[in-house]
Amino acid sequence: MAAAAGRLRQAGIEAPQREARLLMSLASGLTTSQLILRGHLAAPDDLRESFERMVRQREACVPFQHIAGTASFFGLDFISDARALVPRADSEVVVEAALRLLPEAPGLEIADLGTGSGCLLIALLVTRPDVSGTGVEADVAAASLAAENIARHALESRARLAVQPWAEWSGWGSVDLLISNPPYIRSEVIASLDPEVRLHDPEVALDGGADGLDAYRELAGLAQTRLKPGTPVIFEIGYDQQGDVRAILSAAGLTDIGSAKDLGGNDRVVWA
Ligand code: GLN
Repeated sequence: MAAAAGRLRQAGIEAPQREARLLMSLASGLTTSQLILRGHLAAPDDLRESFERMVRQREACVPFQHIAGTASFFGLDFISDARALVPRADSEVVVEAALRLLPEAPGLEIADLGTGSGCLLIALLVTRPDVSGTGVEADVAAASLAAENIARHALESRARLAVQPWAEWSGWGSVDLLISNPPYIRSEVIASLDPEVRLHDPEVALDGGADGLDAYRELAGLAQTRLKPGTPVIFEIGYDQQGDVRAILSAAGLTDIGSAKDLGGNDRVVWA
């Protein structure tokens, strides 16, 4: 495992020893504490091949979650692969804001625009068993992953998918709360993102156009014209976009604008 950690360090992986142990845990089916207790320093013969394959993938900056096939988000387990953005801990702030702004009334409907893996929608529906919702996702591959995650959490009766562009979706009028983690990276920045993100997260989930704000302009316009008046909207944003997104929302006539930071202290959510 020490040799593997050295290779991961060479490849620029931030916590190489921890990741080597996690990969060994995946290959062996043992927990990381079992591995430490057993003093496993080298891969046993029967695991050498699978461990080596995983180390090679991680050296190529394949996200750990893609190698494991799952990602943890909001204390839940999601299938994660190249079809959608790997769920990020930062996005948990979107779920927390939604839980605060969602009224206590029964039978409410939420919409998650650009649902990707489905992690935001599913985390909300698991936490609020009285609520139903729709993930709107134009990307067919991402929608197929969301469908698998909905089935994994046995939410078929409360979670629907609309595989179409946001503007073509016909459900806007029955939404009681809208959330979205849209693409918000400026196009020119994409090439300089970490290889883990640049090579393995879908570009369509990242690229927010020349100024990174295309999706917010579209969402604000749709919210203004199609939602019932007073419906809360909650958007994940980039760390430097709070001012711009507030301006877009207020220009679209949305009021009571607020924001929250992620655990790293960066602006991460804006609502109205
Ligand atoms: N937060 C993501 C990243 O760090 C970007 C997600 C997005 O554009 N919605 O790459």
